[in-house]
Amino acid sequence: MILLISDLHLEQERPDISRAFLHFLETRAVEAQALYILGDFFEVWIGDDAISPFQRSIAQALRQLSERGTRVYLMHGNRDFLLGKAFCQEAGCRLLPDPCVIELNGERVLLMHGDSLCTQDIGYMKLRRWLRHPVSLFILRNLPLSTRQKLARKLRNESRTQNRMKASDIVDVTPDEVPRVMALHGVHTLIHGHTHRPATHQLQVNGQAAQRIVLGDWDKQGWALQVDKRGFVQEPFTL
Ligand code: MN
Repeated sequence: MILLISDLHLEQERPDISRAFLHFLETRAVEAQALYILGDFFEVWIGDDAISPFQRSIAQALRQLSERGTRVYLMHGNRDFLLGKAFCQEAGCRLLPDPCVIELNGERVLLMHGDSLCTQDIGYMKLRRWLRHPVSLFILRNLPLSTRQKLARKLRNESRTQNRMKASDIVDVTPDEVPRVMALHGVHTLIHGHTHRPATHQLQVNGQAAQRIVLGDWDKQGWALQVDKRGFVQEPFTL
C-alpha cells in the first residue's frame, strides 16, 4: 500500500495540523511501503540552515517512519522549494524532481506539485522560472538569514494579495496544459496538489481515457490518497 499527501503547510502556528500529521504517521503511514509528499509540506522554508525546533521535530518523526520501514519521498512545492539535502538526510527521505514518473500498481504515474500547470498565471510562471534557476537558487541559499526571512514574507504577502484579485480559473491548472504534459510523459494518470481542490478528473490523452487526481490540502481537514489493490482512493479525515 502506498500513500500520497501534499499541501500540509506545516507551521508552528497550526499545532492541529502537525498533531494530525504525527497521528497519520503512527497509524497509517507506518503500514505503507512508501509515503509520497508532493510539495508544500511546510508553509515556508528559507533554507536547511534555518531549521527551527518545530521543523526539526517533524524531520525526526519522518526519520522514525523510514527507520520503521516506510520509504519517504519528498517533492518541492512553491512554499518549500529551498528544502535541501541536509533536511532530507536528517528526515531520512529522498527528494524527487518535479515532474517525476513512478510506477504504482504496475502503471506509470506522473507526479507533480502542480504549480507549473497553472500556466495562465503569467506573473507567477515568470517568478517561478526565476526562483528555480540554479543561479538564483545559489544566490538565495547564500543570502543572510534575515534577508531570506524578509524576502519570504514579501513573497507570501504578494501572493496573498494577488490571488485575491486573480480570477479563480487562473489559480487553477490550465485545462490544455494537463493532457499536453501527460502525453509528453506517456502517462494516463497524473497526481498533483497545489490547487487545494481535491478531486479526480477524467480526461482524454491521445484519445485514451486518463485521470488527474488532485490531492487535498490539510487546512480544514486532512486528505490522503491510498493506492492498493482497490486502485486509487482519496479520502478526507478530521484534523
Ligand atoms: Mn503549492
